Amino acid sequence: MPDPAEFDVLIAGAGIVGASVAWHLASAGLRVAVIDATGPAAAASGASDGAVSVASKKPGLMARLASESLLYTRELSTGGPLAGAFHARPSYVFGSGAVEMSALDALVSKLADLTGPVRVTADGPATLLPGLGGAVDRLVVLEGEGHMPGHKAVRAYLSRPGITTIWPAPIRAIASDSNGVTLDLGHRKLRGNTLVAALGTATLDLFPALPIQPRAGQLIVTDRGPVDALRGSLTAASYLVAKTGSGDQLPLPPVVIDPLTTGQYLIGSTREAHGRTDQVDFATLKSLLSRASQIWPALLNRRVIRTFAGVRAAVADGLPIVGAMPGQPRVLMATGFEGDGICLSAVIGREVALMVQGLAPQSHWAADLAALSPARFENTAQKGAA
Ligand SMILES: Cc1cc2nc3c(=O)[nH]c(=O)nc-3n(C[C@H](O)[C@H](O)[C@H](O)COP(=O)(O)OP(=O)(O)OC[C@H]3O[C@@H](n4cnc5c(N)ncnc54)[C@H](O)[C@@H]3O)c2cc1C
Repeated sequence: MPDPAEFDVLIAGAGIVGASVAWHLASAGLRVAVIDATGPAAAASGASDGAVSVASKKPGLMARLASESLLYTRELSTGGPLAGAFHARPSYVFGSGAVEMSALDALVSKLADLTGPVRVTADGPATLLPGLGGAVDRLVVLEGEGHMPGHKAVRAYLSRPGITTIWPAPIRAIASDSNGVTLDLGHRKLRGNTLVAALGTATLDLFPALPIQPRAGQLIVTDRGPVDALRGSLTAASYLVAKTGSGDQLPLPPVVIDPLTTGQYLIGSTREAHGRTDQVDFATLKSLLSRASQIWPALLNRRVIRTFAGVRAAVADGLPIVGAMPGQPRVLMATGFEGDGICLSAVIGREVALMVQGLAPQSHWAADLAALSPARFENTAQKGAA
């Protein structure tokens, strides 16, 4: 007889996805433990921009899920767990040259088709935003989006009573059978009825058959200063192009300038085909800073105080991996959120918690969630194992 389970649900990974799943399950009265190799928001969730953005999502399922998650994030921030973590603000997307102009056309038509919570309130010349520098041919102003630093959201979710947190505790091995799941933490074993694996890029270590690809991104932080006229993020249309996967031919750096509530600016971010977080290079920072200061000249009065890199967990087909793991009873996967995990975490946390409990999905896009199942890689994984 296996040992009785200490927990109803074990959650591997204290990033924003694991934390959101934990909050939803604890709210439903389940005994939940979150295990992390290092600590809360130790990986991508603590090394990202925090745009809760529909504009940057690929058209189709990702944009629809992002719209739904934006609305739900707003709801959770109104007296719920995300109060003080999420704040609403406008978004500005700018462009120059043919490639960026056509990305802006695509953005405007995507948002018109969605009829979601994000709307275009102005579309015209750079003069729409006082303070904007030269080299901008067109500016699209959006209302409805917001910003949420990943580390704040993780701490907010995990502060809910009823969630046991265990770290630093790298999971070394996972064994599952029809009765439950056992985690090997080296110094001890932990038993639960179900496991949710929310491991980001570390999915590769424990589930190597899944096609996760690391995508590093470099970011720059300035010192604090007086809050200026920039009330929301300023995103180059080439950033939208980079997110569709065609970033190799970008004509201009995919810069995003984000004014933080601290009075600092966060300036990002590249998309590089490796997983190194110790590679912040001069040439990349120079090109991001150069375009950023042309676009928002007030930056020239600031000092750079920190640079860092984070790594996104991309998936070969551009969709996250969410659902029951074939051949591993009682293991649910929630990974592969690439550059969208902060935005999608509210809805994904709710839907994964419902899956764990065997309850019907609440998402408007329930029928489409099957497209995210890890079962779509079953043949590839079997071929790889053969
Ligand atoms: C530069 C950059 C900019 C971004 N900007 C945005 C943005 O503006 N908007 C947006 O929505 N998203 C953005 N993202 C993406 C977003 O940060 C991620 O999609 C999201 O944080 C993923 O969360 P997660 O919980 O899936 O993974 P992670 O946050 O990576 O969490 C995984 C956790 O697993 C733990 N772990 C690893 N190995 C083990 C082990 N063996 N045992 C136990 N625990 C382990 C890690 O310590 C970590 O805490 C950005 C990402 C980057 C890198």
